[in-house]
Amino acid sequence: MKPLHLTALLPAELCEFVAALGEPPFRARQIFAGIHHRRLRSLDEMTDLPKELRAKLGERTVVSTLRLESRFLSTDGTRRYLFKTHDNLPVETVFIPEEHRDTICFSSQSGCPLQCTFCLTAQLGLLRNLTAGEIVEQIAIALNDAYGVGVRTPRGTNLVGMGAGEPFLNFEALMKAIRIMSEPSGLHVVPNRVTISTAGVVPRIRELATIPKRPHLAVSLAAPTDELRNQLMPINKKWPLKELLSACKDFEKSLKPGERFTFEYVMLDGVNDSDVHARQLANLLNRHQLRAKINLIPHNPAEPLPYQPSSGSRIEAFREILESKDIHVFVRRPRGRDILAACGQLAARESSSLLRGNHVVG
Ligand code: SAH
Repeated sequence: MKPLHLTALLPAELCEFVAALGEPPFRARQIFAGIHHRRLRSLDEMTDLPKELRAKLGERTVVSTLRLESRFLSTDGTRRYLFKTHDNLPVETVFIPEEHRDTICFSSQSGCPLQCTFCLTAQLGLLRNLTAGEIVEQIAIALNDAYGVGVRTPRGTNLVGMGAGEPFLNFEALMKAIRIMSEPSGLHVVPNRVTISTAGVVPRIRELATIPKRPHLAVSLAAPTDELRNQLMPINKKWPLKELLSACKDFEKSLKPGERFTFEYVMLDGVNDSDVHARQLANLLNRHQLRAKINLIPHNPAEPLPYQPSSGSRIEAFREILESKDIHVFVRRPRGRDILAACGQLAARESSSLLRGNHVVG
C-alpha cells in the first residue's frame, strides 16, 4: 500500500487521520506545525512527538516524497531545483532572489500537455499532474534552502505558478496546495502574494473568480490575433481570443479596488513583435476595456526551440506603442537563463550545455 503523504493534508484531514489512530487532536496540530511551520522533512526530526507515535506513523505515512536530484546556481543568484517524484518523474522549482521580495516559481505538472511552440516544457509532453503535497513540498524545500530550515523571510515571498505545466489543468490539487500553504499555523503564505499563470483554460478563469481568497491571475497571450495565436499556442483553437477575453472580462468583476490582472506576452524576434502587432494588441485590450497590465517577456531561447528573443530596442518600441495607447506595460528581466531556469526553459535538463551561448544575456 502506498504510504499516506502527510504534507498533502489540510489540518482537518490530519485531525481525522490522527483520531483514527486513537491519538488526541493536539498531535495533529504538532504534526501540521512540524511539516509546514517548522518545515521539517521527516518524522524523525519531530522530536516533540513520542517515539512510539513516530514509529506508528512511519509505518503508514511519509512526510517527504520529492527527492532532490540537482541544484543549479545562476550567475544572477537564481536557483533551479530538479526533483524526482516517488515514481521517478521530474519536478522543477526556481528560486529568484530580488531586492525587495524574493520569488519562488513552482510547477503544477510534471511535463505539460500544451504544445506552445516557444516553450521547452512542451517537449516533455504531460507526464502527470502533481499532487497537492508535491506542490507544497517544492515551496517548503526552496524556502529551507534559501533561508534555513523553518526560517521565515521578514519580507515574505512571492509565489508564482509559472513553472512546468498548466496549473488550470490541475486545478483541484493546485487550490488545495494553496489552502494548505495559506494556513496561519503553517507556511502562512498570503494568497495575494500568489500568482497563477494560465495559457487560457477559460472555464477555470471563471471558477477562480468565485474563490473568496483567491490568488492573482496571469494569462499568457503571446499573440494579438487568433491566426497567430493558433500557431504559437494550440490551446487557442479550443478557447479562441474572443472567449478568453470574455472570461477575463468576467474575471475582472472579482478584482479588488486598484488590483489588475496580468497578461504575459513572450517577445519572439520577427514573429509577434512588430509595430503592427503592438497596435493590434493595444486595440484588442482597449476594445474590451480590461483592467489589466501587460508583462513583456523576452523569449528565453533553448535548443531546439526555433525562436530568438526580440532585441532590446524592438521591445522598447513595442512598449512605447502600448503605452501611447494607455496600456500599463512592464518588461520582465530574464532570470536564470544560464542554468535553464527562466520562463519556458524547464525541461528537466541536467545540464545547460544545450543553451545557445551567444544569447545568454540575462
Ligand atoms: N502553462 C502556464 C504557466 C507556465 S508558462 C502558462 O502558459 O501561462 C509561464 C510563462 O512563461 C507563460 O507566460 C509563457 O508564455 C512563458 N513562456 C513560455 N516559454 C517561454 C520562453 N521560452 N521564453 C519566455 N517566456 C516563455
